[in-house]
Amino acid sequence: MPEQQAWRPIDAGDETLRDALNEANIPALMTALVHLTGNADIIRGDIRPMENAFTDLQGAGIPPEQQQEIRDLAFDVIREFRDSGSQLPGIPDEATVQEMMNFISGHELENDYIDFLQSELSLQGESAFSQPAIELVEASQRENFSVLVIGAGMSGILAAIKLKEAGFTYTVVEKNPEVGGTWFENTYPGCRVDSPNHAYSYSFAPKDWPQYFSEQPVLLDYFKQVAEDNGIMDSIRFNTEVKRARFDEDTALWEVTIETPDGREVLFVNAVIAAVGQLNRPMIPDLTGLSTFAGPVFHSGYWEHDHNLTGKKIVVVGTGPSAFQFVPRIASDAAEVNVFQRTAPWVFPKPEYQAFIPEGKHWLLKNLPYYAHWYRFFVFWHTSEGMMKAAIRDPSWNDSRAVSKENDIIRQLLQANAKSIVGADPELFAKVIPDYPPAAKRMLIDNGAWYNALKRDNVNIITDPIKRVTEHGVETESGQTIEADVLIFGTGFHATKFLWPMEIVGRGGVDLRSHWGDDPRAYRGVTVPMYPNFFIMYGPNTNIVVNGSIIFFSECEMRYILGCLAVLLAGRHRTMEPRQAVHDAYNERIDAGNLAMAWGTETVNSWYKNASGRVTQNWPFSLWEFWEQSKSADPNDYEFT
Ligand SMILES: Cc1cc2nc3c(=O)[nH]c(=O)nc-3n(C[C@H](O)[C@H](O)[C@H](O)COP(=O)(O)OP(=O)(O)OC[C@H]3O[C@@H](n4cnc5c(N)ncnc54)[C@H](O)[C@@H]3O)c2cc1C
Repeated sequence: MPEQQAWRPIDAGDETLRDALNEANIPALMTALVHLTGNADIIRGDIRPMENAFTDLQGAGIPPEQQQEIRDLAFDVIREFRDSGSQLPGIPDEATVQEMMNFISGHELENDYIDFLQSELSLQGESAFSQPAIELVEASQRENFSVLVIGAGMSGILAAIKLKEAGFTYTVVEKNPEVGGTWFENTYPGCRVDSPNHAYSYSFAPKDWPQYFSEQPVLLDYFKQVAEDNGIMDSIRFNTEVKRARFDEDTALWEVTIETPDGREVLFVNAVIAAVGQLNRPMIPDLTGLSTFAGPVFHSGYWEHDHNLTGKKIVVVGTGPSAFQFVPRIASDAAEVNVFQRTAPWVFPKPEYQAFIPEGKHWLLKNLPYYAHWYRFFVFWHTSEGMMKAAIRDPSWNDSRAVSKENDIIRQLLQANAKSIVGADPELFAKVIPDYPPAAKRMLIDNGAWYNALKRDNVNIITDPIKRVTEHGVETESGQTIEADVLIFGTGFHATKFLWPMEIVGRGGVDLRSHWGDDPRAYRGVTVPMYPNFFIMYGPNTNIVVNGSIIFFSECEMRYILGCLAVLLAGRHRTMEPRQAVHDAYNERIDAGNLAMAWGTETVNSWYKNASGRVTQNWPFSLWEFWEQSKSADPNDYEFT
């Protein structure tokens, strides 16, 4: 019988129970009841979540009267459990756990998935991302092997924690004065995560989040706290930027030039992990006349908080995820907000997007045995893997507004949502409906704030391109003049310029950026031929469009990096780099995979693609497959010295 987790006895009164149950996610509640009673019949009846419950993360499409039936049952079961001493029967057997996973996901999961999802579910506290191979390497070897991590954002913090746990000598170099990366730099009004927080958190550091999608200060605190709790802060050199890293073929060391507050310094290390993110270098378009503008000009990634925007005429360039979040926040105080849009985003309705998690739900997450596990699993599935199907292109589909029947159903749903809010204004409605299929670009989620902001009298969406910036505003291609006191860019990042502006010099003195050109590629998103002992996190083809959170990917990548180091050190080699043929075959498969997805659609331009149209950013397959391929490093894939 698997080991049972320890739980505090339930001591809440009936009223607290009733209140809590009113907030319950019904499928997670039903599976928790199976744990409490040992009776799996609870999930065998006709009350079941719908297959794609991403639009209703609470009720999961279960009719209200059936939801109430479950709440009433739960009330009796939990009360009985409490009053009889809160003793759990054993964990359900494996077949029942599988049945519960099928129930939560809304369909029969394929066998391949079971291992993966079971460790993601972590009923017995198991880690989905452990790397047992590294334990087999002698401790002294690990200690004598030095690793430099570049960046202390989500990925760099993770790398440091895992290197420390594994007993490596490591240093982290961070250009900012703080950890957090994305969540340190992006402080614009309304900045928040748009992956559900119960999935956007490290698997080893769950948190009782205040909101389903928490705001930037909460995320920054979370990453700081995790770094502190895991004792890595003293190993981070802040305000220090890596300028150049050169591999020395004689010594097999990386010679890394850093710019510190006291000047330049050179470090020598056995391996480098670049954890500089895809979205760290803000991009401002090269607009004619920009330098002549008289007022403040800034990018959402470096919000200048000292400007009072009240009563100001503001021009915003871009309608991507950041503008989408800050425009509704600044619109109420500004005199006028003119938003320049190149392409409209698809907007997914999510009523709980800005909501706080109610007390009852906090109670359930903390106190009801196994509820939190199944809730995270529900969110994980329905906002990630469960969404993938709708993004796959059907070659026989011939309406360019969608890529398949499933995709078209989503398109209609999103269009109907837009119509319900802005439908009374046909001109605005026409502007907010994208002419490309859902999932060809990241869909934005919202509780109505964006469309409602666009309906305001002082907000306009302008689709006429900017011709030039003048001292007091902008001029459009069609000759319209728009006055502005402030110019704000929500124009994204230099995402396709991976690792830019660092100079990374590998074998033969070749700089990685010139080696890549505008076509970055890596093996498993992590290693590059000719760049020995060099590892990338959140590298080429590790970004996601519809499925999941980047933290999941980084946890997989770090497990794979430890697997590589295990192979390197166990074989007593000095260096490793992927075989060119293995790397190329992997990338061919990635390219074919991306072409089969909505974001690979030839007619759609996006930051996922380079100038020749190749998707350099995204992972095209399931989360399971990324997880599976990161389990271990195969020595046959590598060349060693
Ligand atoms: C506004 C915004 C919202 C987002 N929302 C989501 C979301 O909802 N879900 C999701 O999955 N992802 C989201 N992302 C993507 C997000 O970037 C990742 O989730 C995650 O934060 C990436 O972490 P990272 O550590 O890999 O990179 P980053 O967070 O970008 O951190 C990189 C770090 O490297 C440092 N650095 C860079 N160059 C150097 C150098 N040369 N020397 C020293 N230090 C250097 C930087 O200062 C930074 O601290 C969002 C991104 C943005 C910008």
